[in-house]
Amino acid sequence: MEIEPAEEVKEPPRIHRLDESVVNRIAAGEVIQRPVSAVKELVENSLDASSTSISVLVKDGGLKLIQVSDDGHGIRYEDLPILCERHTTSKLSKYEDLQSIKSMGFRGEALASMTYVGHVTVTTITRGQLHGYRVSYRDGVMENEPKACAAVKGTQIVIENLFYNMVARRKTLQNSADDYTKIVDLLSRFAIHHIDVSFSCRKHGAARADVHSVATPSRLNAIRSVYGLSVAQNLIKIEASDNDPSSSVFEMDGFISNSNYVAKKTTMVLFINDRLVECTALKRALEVVYVATLPKASKPFIYMSITLPPEHVDVNVHPTKREVSLLNQEVIVEKIQSVVESVLRNSNESRTFQEQTVEATPSVPSVTNNDLHLSPSPSGSKSQRVPVNKIVRTDSSDPAGRMHAYLYKNPQKYLGRDSSLTTVRSSVRQRRNLKETADLTSIQELINDIDRKCHSGLLDIVRQSTYIGMADDVFALLQHNTHLYLANVVNLSKELMYQQVLRRFAHFNAIQLSEPAPLQELIMLALKEEDSDLESNENDDLKKKIAEMNTQLLNQKSEMLEEYFCIFIDSDGNLSRLPILLDQYTPDMDRVPEFVLCLGNDVEWEEEKNCFQSLAAALGNFYAMHPPMLPNPSGKGLEFYRKRKHGKHTQDGGNSCHVVSLCVFASKSAERGRRRDGTAEEDEFEHELLSEAETAWAQREWSIQHVLFPSMRLFLKPPNSMASNGTFVRVASLEKLYKIFERC
Ligand code: ADP
Ligand code: MG
Repeated sequence: MEIEPAEEVKEPPRIHRLDESVVNRIAAGEVIQRPVSAVKELVENSLDASSTSISVLVKDGGLKLIQVSDDGHGIRYEDLPILCERHTTSKLSKYEDLQSIKSMGFRGEALASMTYVGHVTVTTITRGQLHGYRVSYRDGVMENEPKACAAVKGTQIVIENLFYNMVARRKTLQNSADDYTKIVDLLSRFAIHHIDVSFSCRKHGAARADVHSVATPSRLNAIRSVYGLSVAQNLIKIEASDNDPSSSVFEMDGFISNSNYVAKKTTMVLFINDRLVECTALKRALEVVYVATLPKASKPFIYMSITLPPEHVDVNVHPTKREVSLLNQEVIVEKIQSVVESVLRNSNESRTFQEQTVEATPSVPSVTNNDLHLSPSPSGSKSQRVPVNKIVRTDSSDPAGRMHAYLYKNPQKYLGRDSSLTTVRSSVRQRRNLKETADLTSIQELINDIDRKCHSGLLDIVRQSTYIGMADDVFALLQHNTHLYLANVVNLSKELMYQQVLRRFAHFNAIQLSEPAPLQELIMLALKEEDSDLESNENDDLKKKIAEMNTQLLNQKSEMLEEYFCIFIDSDGNLSRLPILLDQYTPDMDRVPEFVLCLGNDVEWEEEKNCFQSLAAALGNFYAMHPPMLPNPSGKGLEFYRKRKHGKHTQDGGNSCHVVSLCVFASKSAERGRRRDGTAEEDEFEHELLSEAETAWAQREWSIQHVLFPSMRLFLKPPNSMASNGTFVRVASLEKLYKIFERC
């Protein structure tokens, strides 16, 4: 063995005290991260000084100049020498004051920080003075004695050459053009909350201000003047409160966008005790409600002001004060979420047949420990220490399960929902006023049955659990507290769809089939599929007869099917429209034949309640998230495709039937089917079949994760029967798993 040459023995480096100016500059870089952080601090100071008018002027994205002028109480002459020293403030004397602090500032750091990374000049005048004073600061101290000067009421603070001494930061910021946008966005937010203050924000040299608000008693007016009419006219007022010290104490009021509002990005303006903060947990919780409730999955506009007892808010968790920590945050988020949900559903379906009312109990998922603090942005939030038993818990309010991220490299491509069968979702709403439906007591009875049979333990699991991923073709893995469960996705989706049919009864949006499908052919196809022997023609006459009779029956019932269930059959006996049971979800069209046959055979047409129930069940079964008909190409299912490749005409029973049914529906597949002779074409066919199957499976998994589970949290009332029929199986306790992992 070769001996490595001995390394030169190094002396341990000396530890020394950093120069105070270095310490201050490092700290300043944290408080003033970019120009917009400086503007925020300055505007908050102006608000703390009881200003009624605040104007901001910005040059070069804030790097050259930031000027904030207000008409507040000003700064005393004798305070000017220490104004920009670190930890000098007029807002706090002892630590306990933090408990009841109402002002936005309290750390006495902002102005000081600015002097370490820029040139600060303050001009100020206090009430009753004949003249004001102007003084400049560097590195926390005055550069000269304050000079008397003419001044208008209030304070003006100018920061020039921000980050002049931080080359790297200045360079990165110089390249980013969006700092002024950020400043405008910030002022817009302040302007719609502090409606008794006028705000303006202008680029240096520009004639017009980009934010210009005047004090108004109406919040809606303020929103209109800042965000425009297109936002203001699509808002709904929202309020919530709780005063139960054992759960939560808060008041919330605000405005949220309705279903007509369209935007690609969520705008969430959140004030907690008048502080502008961000709360990822709340934002996500509300986005989930929008996705699940509104037909157009537009991102919302939300303005919300939450007030809590000051002692319930820890404002001192972040140097820029953009995060605060709340007592009982999970409960508050849940309560707000359920109020938003019910307001949205009422507004969206205001004419709906009696919707189920939203329960007062928490309707939605808890948040993770990572979300327990309010963070300014996902990237800005620092990880917190969390109890070990919660570390693997993923966020149940986040519809994206964690496992999925690792399974598909490119899940976005499935978002287009380009199903193998061409369906087009109709954007037009169905006619609403055919007949007043609210007096159909049978529907109300069926809905009451659902409520009565709801299993509270399972309800809790459904609402509070986190989707982890699919364990196999039918079972999903869920985490609830510290337990893992396998949940049967087919059973759950069937039940959810059934319940949705009853809730949306007579008020469905429509899925339009791009080509009307003849009922008789659909039924023939289904009957043939039922027959295991494909080649047999002997019963064809009988099948034709059945198909004819069933078509006739459905034609007779078409008016009712259309009016109550949005199943539209035209006068030529073609099916052309189906209901939307869950927004963002289209059923597997390969199951249309089976469904149409089931309408003829299994629905009890005679008695009203039975009829509605069996129809809802038939729809539920059709829309359920069954495994796609083509075998799963990952895992064992791949053999099916290999087998087809090697043993050309292997009889594969049911599966060959499905291929036929696919071919009938998708003209592309039919085309392929016809030219199945040459080997090259055969290969191509196999290849396309395989990729079709891959898409179908990936699409299904996407829907399970992004549509089924978020919707179940909101709408599903799991029946008692699910507690014993294997729909939920508890598989492991995480505490035990931790013990195993800890040993590794
Ligand atoms: P903080 O706001 O945390 O107290 P700052 O460094 O932001 O610390 O400000 C220090 C002090 O300067 C404030 O406490 C306040 O008394 C005073 N001050 C700053 N800006 C203004 C202003 N625009 N009008 C009046 N006083 C101000
Ligand atoms: Mg301040």
